[in-house]
Amino acid sequence: MADKRILVIGGGIAGLTAARCLAESGLQVDVVERRPTVGGHAAEYACKATDSCVKCGACRVEEAVAAVQAQPAVTLWTGARVEAISTSPPFEASIRRDGTPKAHTGRFEAVLMATGFSPFDPSDKPYGYGVHANVITNLELERILRRQGRPARPSDGKTAARIAFFQCVGSRDRRLGHLWCSQVCCGSALRMGDWIRHQDPEAEVTVFYIDIQTFGKDFQCRWDRFRGDFRMIRTLPGDVLEEEGRNLRVIYADPETGASAEETFDMVVLSIGLLPGVGKDEPEASLPLLRDAFGFLRPPDDAAVSSSGGVFVAGAASGPMAIADAVSSAGKAAWQVLQYLKQQESEP
Ligand SMILES: Cc1cc2nc3c(=O)[nH]c(=O)nc-3n(C[C@H](O)[C@H](O)[C@H](O)COP(=O)(O)OP(=O)(O)OC[C@H]3O[C@@H](n4cnc5c(N)ncnc54)[C@H](O)[C@@H]3O)c2cc1C
Ligand code: SF4
Ligand code: SF4
Repeated sequence: MADKRILVIGGGIAGLTAARCLAESGLQVDVVERRPTVGGHAAEYACKATDSCVKCGACRVEEAVAAVQAQPAVTLWTGARVEAISTSPPFEASIRRDGTPKAHTGRFEAVLMATGFSPFDPSDKPYGYGVHANVITNLELERILRRQGRPARPSDGKTAARIAFFQCVGSRDRRLGHLWCSQVCCGSALRMGDWIRHQDPEAEVTVFYIDIQTFGKDFQCRWDRFRGDFRMIRTLPGDVLEEEGRNLRVIYADPETGASAEETFDMVVLSIGLLPGVGKDEPEASLPLLRDAFGFLRPPDDAAVSSSGGVFVAGAASGPMAIADAVSSAGKAAWQVLQYLKQQESEP
């Protein structure tokens, strides 16, 4: 199989894992990543270990990057895009690195879509994102914790001691047509809140929520512990106003009494949803892709590998999922590619 090339679009944890599996099976793999570095969204997450590892999975990304970089059968195209691609195998694709005049062209037996998710843009929500400096997203808080090691406020760099998380921002929202649960944002908020309180036991973490999704095998025992450490308020706030000192006044309906309530926080963190990653305008959107009702890509069934048209899907491109699930879906997609190639070889 060493003469066969596979194109992986997206160099997040899913794309890298699939590339490694395929290369270890004897294939040549090209990974195209539009960002300047590989690793995807999860490369920006902080380690949230407290007294022990909380199994957030963030360190799996570094392992995956190192493994792929050490694999000579994988070519990494960072800061690059697929400029054009044919729609049936063998796929003729041109790949262009940003700022370079000449595109590289290649011929690929199969394409693996590992394009991940797009984060919801909360600018149109009534929470002051983009207006009040200390209203940030959960992705931004991950970056702040990773780089600064504390919940530093964007406005003045002070460590926030009263933090509110708003859950389900852009998910489970009928008005937006986003009916799905983004699956990872409850665990992410609770782990970050737990880590912040571990650094500063005086810090107050309040979570405004509709439901808490306790995905993951070991989450229930963690959730039982978290629940006692945070203030959990089962309602979604109506408004956020900026006060003196760039603090934030949150206005919500008290779920016990229904009366309007107000509280002041140093920082508000919006747990934004995970949306489909592949838009309609990218060249790869012309590939024979199946989509679900929400626009996420649908991987072929194992029984339908031969009729997949040579296009496979891994990771959060197929819907919100945690890092561990992205890794296992990448292993499965790589296995499907190998089955597909074997079937192609055995056909007269
Ligand atoms: C705030 C937040 C916190 C989270 N915390 C956790 C956590 O603690 N633990 C956990 O298990 N999960 C967590 N997750 C989920 C985790 O981010 C995903 O499981 C993981 O990122 C999925 O990896 P992926 O490779 O499928 O997608 P992505 O990480 O989205 O990677 C996709 C890659 O493809 C690239 N790409 C997309 N389209 C193209 C294109 N057309 N051409 C070239 N490149 C392209 C992107 O630039 C990106 O690098 C969190 C998610 C969020 C939003
Ligand atoms: S899984 Fe998460 S908490 Fe555990 S060591 Fe890795 S990065 Fe840290
Ligand atoms: S994981 Fe939690 S915050 Fe995210 S959409 Fe589901 S219920 Fe809402």
